This record gives sequence, C-alpha cells and structure tokens, in this order.
Amino acid sequence: MKTIIVKIDRSTIRKNPDAGNTQSHILREIIYLFNFLGSKKPRWMKEKDGVFLESGEQISGKSISAGTGLILKGRITNEELFRKLLHLIEKKDYKKIGGELTLSAEHKYDTINHAPSPEYLYDYEKTFIKCSNCKKEIEVNHVVVDYIDDEVCVEICPKCHEYNTFPKYVYEKISEVVKS
Ligand SMILES: [Zn+2]
Repeated sequence: MKTIIVKIDRSTIRKNPDAGNTQSHILREIIYLFNFLGSKKPRWMKEKDGVFLESGEQISGKSISAGTGLILKGRITNEELFRKLLHLIEKKDYKKIGGELTLSAEHKYDTINHAPSPEYLYDYEKTFIKCSNCKKEIEVNHVVVDYIDDEVCVEICPKCHEYNTFPKYVYEKISEVVKS
C-alpha cells in the first residue's frame, strides 16, 4: 500500500524567532510579597492560610494616622488571597485592608539547555487516515501511539481500540520544503 504523507501546511511556515537558541527560561514559581503598614495586624493576615510573616517592626511616627504602628513584611502563598488583596487595593478599600498595603510578585525562572531551536516553525495539514477495522477516518494526530516493553511501537485506533489498523504514513520534513 502507498505510504501517506502528512504534509506541512505551506502557509504556516514561519521563521523561528528563537532559531539557534540553546537556552530557554522556564517559569518555576511566582513569589507574592507584601509590605503592610498599619496600626495593628489586619484580619486577612490572621484568618487566611498562606500568609507568612518575614519581618515585623514597631514604629512610631507620622506615617500612620494612629501615630504608632507596625510594618509587616512577608510572603503570600495563597494566590486567591493575593488577587483578593489586589482587588481591595484597586477599590481603595483601606478598611478591609486594615492599613497601607503594597504587593509585588517575583518571577523565578529556571534556565535549561537544549539542542539549538529549529530555524522554522510550521504546522501540518489536517490529515485523515482510515482504520481498517472500524472503517472510521481518524485524524492522524488522534491516533494513539504506545510502546510495549518500552520498545515495540503500536498504534491504537481511538474509536475501536484495535492495534495497528492504519496504513503507513510519514510526516513531511521541513528540509524537503525549505531548502537552506
Ligand atoms: Zn478503528
């Protein structure tokens, strides 16, 4: 039987802006920080899980209307709470905030090394192949590929779950389309 070629959609071929790059930065975590100034510990700091105080000091001065107060700094691990507090700041709801509050987010990245990124990016044309068991036309990227004992590759029909019922197919290579 003739081998089916899954063709590259010519209109999707584009230069990869990261071509040749061998490093990528992947977001590992976001750390939410707060800086609070008030006369006493606010309710949201006591009630909710996910608030970690890292420093606190008593101050006396003009910065707070009460005259004396607290500067509290720490981390928030509860993202929902962080968003709620952001919302309160936007609404200028100082009563619920319990004082002056500044929030910030620190993004931590991991750097990974990899083989140079390809010169072009592209998509494949939607291609259907027919299952010889259930006779259904299946989109080629819906065919389930599995490995038996980590080495024997089998294709499974997503409709009838029969093994190896599809004709042979290959993906067109970009080097066959774009001559460098
Ligand atoms: Zn099938």
